[in-house]
Amino acid sequence: MSLHGRTALVTGSTQGIGLAIAESLARAGAQVVLHGIEPAAQGAEVAAQLQAATGARCTYVSANLMDEAQAAGLVAQAEALLAPIDIMVNNAGIQFTCPVAEFPAERWNAILAVNLSACFHTMKAAIPGMRQRRWGRLINIASVHGLVASLNKGAYLAAKHGLVGLNKGVALETATDGITANCICPGWTDTALIQPQIEARAAAVGGDREAGIRELLREKQPNLTLLPPSALGEVAVFLCSPAAAGITGVALPVDGGWTAQ
Ligand code: NAD
Repeated sequence: MSLHGRTALVTGSTQGIGLAIAESLARAGAQVVLHGIEPAAQGAEVAAQLQAATGARCTYVSANLMDEAQAAGLVAQAEALLAPIDIMVNNAGIQFTCPVAEFPAERWNAILAVNLSACFHTMKAAIPGMRQRRWGRLINIASVHGLVASLNKGAYLAAKHGLVGLNKGVALETATDGITANCICPGWTDTALIQPQIEARAAAVGGDREAGIRELLREKQPNLTLLPPSALGEVAVFLCSPAAAGITGVALPVDGGWTAQ
């Protein structure tokens, strides 16, 4: 599978699932613009490491996606640095767990801004160029929580269900333009995002971290295995492949059976 000649922008890609997706795309031949909230020098180091490991040209842009203007300007910033964006991966995301009756409004606004509104802004900015070039891949990292609910995740559920809906609409609007728009819906994946939930569960069962992970998996994820971030990277590459040209508007669970229940 060759993505030579394609340029990807992956949000929130200095760590976790985003970095794994950036690495898979780079190994498939795409040049990659990494993105994060870290200062330029710190992000540039991650980009240099990825470039050395993959041989693909990699660079870095910094933007806080909680800020509407920064989110709206991200694609232009990336294109000025490298090349027109052919593959737009909306991956950046944050989590906060709390019952709705006590949910801080400030956390609600932050989660909606980063996990949903930023995806609107980047797709809005990326679509016209993709349309002109008659090729584009929009990949939105939603979640099983874009499809089903769990306790105490009101804002995250609203954002991820919203993203699945937005993605369907974008898929219809771009269906004859050589563009596909798809969501990947991961289950529990081994990254920093879920560490607070692992620690809370570990404390609740009076055990260590491994006991906490076992409890989380037993409750929701039938294959009883945390997903490695690289698994999501390979699915993203597949969605960019010619074999996936007819796949658009889907929300693809990669969840060890979570949403089959
Ligand atoms: P992570 O915390 O390792 O990475 C999140 C990334 O988002 C980081 O790079 C962070 O810098 C970036 N980010 C956060 N706030 C930002 C802001 N204001 N502006 C710019 N960037 C910001 O977590 P992850 O697990 O790799 O999460 C990646 C995506 O996968 C998220 O959308 C998350 O909701 C989704 N997801 C994760 C899991 C899981 O179990 N880890 C499951 C389902 C979905």
